Formats: sequence, structure tokens, C-alpha cells
Amino acid sequence: MQRIALIGVGLIVGSLARALKASPEAENIHLCGYFRSSAAVAQALEIGITDSATTSLAEAVAGADVVILGVPVGAIGDLLQQLKPYLGAAVVISDVGSTKGSVVAAAEAVFGQLPPRFIPGHPIAGTEKSGMSAALPDLFQQRRVILTPNERSDRQAVGIIRHLWQLCGAEVVEMPVVRHDEVLAATSHLPHMLAYTLVDTLARLDEHDDIFRFAAGGFRDFTRIASSNPQMWHDICLNNRPALLKILQHFGHELARLAAAIEQGDGATLLRIFADAKMARDNYSANH
Ligand code: NAP
Repeated sequence: MQRIALIGVGLIVGSLARALKASPEAENIHLCGYFRSSAAVAQALEIGITDSATTSLAEAVAGADVVILGVPVGAIGDLLQQLKPYLGAAVVISDVGSTKGSVVAAAEAVFGQLPPRFIPGHPIAGTEKSGMSAALPDLFQQRRVILTPNERSDRQAVGIIRHLWQLCGAEVVEMPVVRHDEVLAATSHLPHMLAYTLVDTLARLDEHDDIFRFAAGGFRDFTRIASSNPQMWHDICLNNRPALLKILQHFGHELARLAAAIEQGDGATLLRIFADAKMARDNYSANH
């Protein structure tokens, strides 16, 4: 029996729990969830998302082979500090945080270095929903999970975390931390910033009632992710600042170029931008 402690069982780690319990190895896995309130413990046991549930961190990780952190990235440092006295040398630790440089820095601050059996991770899957009741057993099917071990990482621990995600139907890839944070700033963090800012901008216009009344499919497609958890995105922004600022500045420059083309009636530039973007988006759709 492999004992896995899940610390912070919301959408992502709740989905991991559901997927592991639907996997061929479910019978050999005991999932113990840590929750901040007894109401959440009662809910977890009622919906059966974990095999056991507790409000005690010490109890959650006692005897655990693997500990997975599922909290917002801004909470990971404090959490590791609280967990430190209870973590044995053999335990394998991982997380699902959307930023990796900040998680590694938090671990270094608490342990002096990234422990060799702490394998940072990030599943590239999600929804705009939050909480254990939004968890989906198939969320990670055919999705990628990025692990960011370093040269001192224990390869057996990497193998254990890789296997857990593969049990959920995911493809696991490894990537350096800096590369992860740059790629995700562009592909995930920037689109969330655009969706949030677009909705906030429109909501503040005097005629916002009419704007939302007549908004159609394009608005709905583009802004779905503006319903994501604000605290989680607050944490992501503040924990991936250099990479996010770099891509935001680049995007701002491109947006200014588009505005200038519109102002100058420069149809050739507009057509070039739209045609190139359509080709890139069509290729993406065809390949994914
Ligand atoms: P979520 O549904 O809001 O779940 C977060 C969980 O963490 C909740 O159970 C929450 O408990 C708990 N929690 C929050 N702060 C805590 C603290 N200080 N100590 C202990 N527990 C705490 O969020 P999520 O979408 O699963 O995201 C979790 C992690 O996955 C984040 O690091 C996020 O960056 C990453 N991620 C998210 C997505 C996505 O699309 N959502 C995708 C990939 C990765 P309460 O219920 O008591 O608040």
C-alpha cells in the first residue's frame, strides 16, 4: 500500500485524487487529505475524494510515501515551514503549482536547498472552477505534466512522481525551471491577464449593461478564464514577475502596433497580422 498525503485538495489535487482512485492501482493507494476546516473534512469524506481526511498536517503526512502540495503558490513557503518537522528523509514531495521558480526558492528558503526528493511539478490542465467539488477524474487524460527536477534530484523520486501522473493518463515531460516559467508566462499567464483585463475594462464602461447583454460567442470563448480563482492568479502574478512582465511588455508593444495600423488605415499590416495569426491558430488546432 502506497500512502499519499494530499495537502490542499481543490480542483487540481482533487482531480489527481479522483484519477488515482479510477486507475488500475487504486487498491494499492491510500489517499490522506489535509483540509483547513472540519467542514471540509466532512465534505471530503462524504463525497469520498480521499480515503481519510484530517485537519492535522502531522497526521496527514505521518507514514506518507509521497506528499503532494495543492495549495496556491503563494502559500507553499509557509506550508513547507509547517510541514518540515514531520517530513522524513525518504518521503517524496511534489507540488502542482503554476510557477516553478518561486516554489524552488520557497523550498530552498526552508530546507537550504531543493531536497533531492522534492520534485516540482505542474499539470498543464485545469478549468476556471475551484474546490474539491469541481474535481474531474479525467482532467489529466492526454494532457502534459511538466516536472522540473535539477541535477541533484533523486531519479527514483522523479520516477515515482512520473508514474503517478502517468496513472492519471498524462504525458510527463521534464524542463528547466526558468524555461517552464517563461513558457507558461506566454501560454497561460498572459492569456489570463488579457481575459481579466478585458472583462474588467468592459465592466467599468458606462454602457456595460448593453455590452454584456449583446456579447456573443467570441466574448464567451475569450473570457471564460476570467472566471478563474482571483487568489490563485494573484499568487501566480506575484510569483512569476520577471517572465510575466517581459511577455506583457512585448504584447503591449504589439498591441500598440495594431492600434497604429488602425489609426493610419494601414490595411496591409492588419491583414498580415490577422493572416499570420489565423495560420498559427489553425496549425495549433490541427496538431492538438
Ligand atoms: P483550488 O481549487 O482553489 O484549491 C486550492 C486548495 O488549497 C483548497 O483546498 C484550499 O483550501 C487549499 N489552501 C489554500 N490555501 C491554503 C493554505 N494556506 N494552507 C492549506 N491549504 C490551503 O485551487 P486549484 O485550482 O486546485 O489550484 C491549486 C494549485 O494548482 C495552485 O498552485 C495553482 O497554481 C495550480 N494549478 C491550477 C490550475 C487551474 O487551472 N486551476 C492548473 C494547473 C495548476 P480551502 O478550501 O480551505 O481554501
